[in-house]
Amino acid sequence: MVDVKLENIVKTFGETVALKGIDLHIKAGELFTLLGPSGCGKSTTLRIIAGLDFPDSGTIHFGDEEVTYLPSSKRGAVLVFQNYALWPHMTVFDNVAYGLKLKKLPKDEIKKKVEWALELVKLEGFADRYPTQLSGGQQQRVAIARALVVEPKVLLLDEPLSNLDAKLRLEMRSEIRRIQRELGITVIYVTHDQEEAMAISDRIAVMNVGTVEQVGTPKEIYESP
Ligand code: ADP
Ligand code: ADP
Repeated sequence: MVDVKLENIVKTFGETVALKGIDLHIKAGELFTLLGPSGCGKSTTLRIIAGLDFPDSGTIHFGDEEVTYLPSSKRGAVLVFQNYALWPHMTVFDNVAYGLKLKKLPKDEIKKKVEWALELVKLEGFADRYPTQLSGGQQQRVAIARALVVEPKVLLLDEPLSNLDAKLRLEMRSEIRRIQRELGITVIYVTHDQEEAMAISDRIAVMNVGTVEQVGTPKEIYESP
C-alpha cells in the first residue's frame, strides 16, 4: 500500500498543453477517480503515473520514493487498458503469466501466482481458454488478473468498463471494489461517467482541460455548487 503524490505536473504535446501543472495526493489504499470530459488529460495523467510517458516538469512520488523518471517496470504501477489488450493467440494462463515469465520466475512459482490471481478475479477453471472464448466481462477480469499477478503497489484503470453492457458494468464495479478492499491496494481509476465515479470512488478529482478543478468524496462533489 502506498500513497501517490503528483506535484505541479506539466505535460505538453507540441502546441497542446495536456496538463497545466496539476497537484494530486492519492492516499494509500483508496480508490481515487479522475473524472472529466474527453481530452481533459485523464489518460495522460495515468500514463505518467504508470511510467509509460514522462512529464515536462513536476514530480511524482510513491510513498517516499521519487519515481518521476523511473521506467514503468521499476515503479510498481500497472495500467489496465480500456480494450484489455489481451494476446489473442495465448491462453488465459499465458496471458496472466506473461509478466512473471519476463521476470524469469521458476515455473511452479508462476503457476501458484497465476492460480492466485485467477481465483481473485473468480476465473478459476478458465486457464486453458482463449480470450475469444470469453465474454467481455471475463476478458476484463483476465486483464485485471494480469495486472495484479505482479503484485503492483498501484493499480491504474483507464475506463475499464466502457466496453461492457450495462448489467456487466454494474457487476464489474462491485468486483473492482471487492478486489481493491481484499488487497488493500491503491487504485487510480479514470472515467468520464459521473454516475460511475460517484458509485465506485472513495474520492474524486474533477478535471477540466489540463487542470484539477475539485477534489473530494462523492458526497462532497455532489453537494458542491
Ligand atoms: P482524456 O484521457 O481525458 O480523454 P488525454 O489525456 O487522452 O485526455 O488527452 C489530453 C490532451 O492531450 C488532448 O488534447 C489530447 O489530444 C492530447 N494528447 C494526448 N496524447 C497525445 C499524444 N500522444 N500526442 C498528441 N496529443 C496528445
Ligand atoms: P483514451 O480514450 O483512453 O483517452 P485516447 O484514445 O485518447 O485514449 O488515446 C489513445 C492513445 O493515443 C494514447 O497513447 C494517447 O497518448 C494517444 N493520443 C491521444 N490523443 C492524441 C493526439 N491528439 N495525437 C496523437 N496521439 C494521441
